[in-house]
Amino acid sequence: MVVLSKRARNLHQGAIRAMFDKAATMDRVISMGIGEPDMATPMPICEAAAMALRNGQTHYTPNAGTLECRQAVSEWGNIKELHFDSRSEIIITPGGMGALSLLLSVIVEEGVEILIQDPQWLNYASQVRFFGGVPVPVPTSAEKGFVIQAADIEQKITEKTKAIMLNSPNNPTGAVIPEKELRKIAEVAIRHDLLVISDEVYNTLYYTEKPVSISALPGMKDRTIVINSLSKAFAMTGWRLGFAAGPAEIISKMVPAQENISACANSIAQAAAVYALHHPELSETLHTVFQQRRRIVMEGLDAIPGISYCEPDGAFYVFPNIKSFRMTSYEFCNRLLEEEHVVCIPGSAFGQAGEGYMRMAYTCSEDELVEGLQRIKRFCEAIRGNQA
Ligand code: PLP
Repeated sequence: MVVLSKRARNLHQGAIRAMFDKAATMDRVISMGIGEPDMATPMPICEAAAMALRNGQTHYTPNAGTLECRQAVSEWGNIKELHFDSRSEIIITPGGMGALSLLLSVIVEEGVEILIQDPQWLNYASQVRFFGGVPVPVPTSAEKGFVIQAADIEQKITEKTKAIMLNSPNNPTGAVIPEKELRKIAEVAIRHDLLVISDEVYNTLYYTEKPVSISALPGMKDRTIVINSLSKAFAMTGWRLGFAAGPAEIISKMVPAQENISACANSIAQAAAVYALHHPELSETLHTVFQQRRRIVMEGLDAIPGISYCEPDGAFYVFPNIKSFRMTSYEFCNRLLEEEHVVCIPGSAFGQAGEGYMRMAYTCSEDELVEGLQRIKRFCEAIRGNQA
């Protein structure tokens, strides 16, 4: 008897997991592998959650989330300028992942193509496949700062293309798409009548220019779904609280989809989110920490011969070029783990265009970062010595 569906049989654990499993068997490990803030959720947000518990906010909420939470989302950061209607154009979900999967469940049909930047966050392609769609990679390059180019997007469009997935600031590269390129991408989307999925989960973490949402550009609000969450902005990954904001036609179908899958996002996390979204200064504190660490990482990398990198404009990642060591990124990262007990993620895990690079996350303490960079330097020097 075949118990599992074809869809389930195609599910596999992500490539990053294997690195963590190996690291768990070692001591003195420094992890630059984890894609989440290492600090605890700011205490006032935890206190708001405790208050919600004491007040008995422990029931199901509306499928779209509490109106209070949707209103708080509509008034937060750059979302405010987009004037989303909290009753019809916003849904609260279990994390940004919950929002992405609900969205894909209502727009993807068998064979539908979704354009996704390469290298890219691992889960996009597997989510698209899970819903029967085809993820189509759009390669980016270090020469263009890993910024996805409108011209490259246009080349990949076929009659099956339904949407363009954007992620700015980007995981794994730290790139931010400048407004000039976003305008060109918007023109392409309008010309080919495509939807844009704009994943903005890192948009409070920027170090040069403030990221622009493509949804704010002329003619784009009707064809863009913004995905965001409190995970990275407020160090709330475990709370599982995110949202989607976009055209009522799409949101109105994501709501019954959520009714059938999880009913609603966690009620206590929604109460905590209302507090957090009304206190953006709490995410500012995180921003300051990552800004300082980014400087430490860049200084550390500058001191390592054979490594080059594009300065990351956002998120908490840097994506250095390790091609001069003449190994695959998988070999490089595995040896780095075995010999120096430092976790970095092979660039190839994020797509073909990531080969020759590795992702470093500055989600550990400053002391660990300094020590980790010294170990990477020692490792690189040893390889160069052996190759000379
Ligand atoms: N989008 C990107 C690019 C991410 O890197 C992540 C998490 O790593 C997510 C979305 C989902 O985050 P969450 O579901 O915690 O909001």
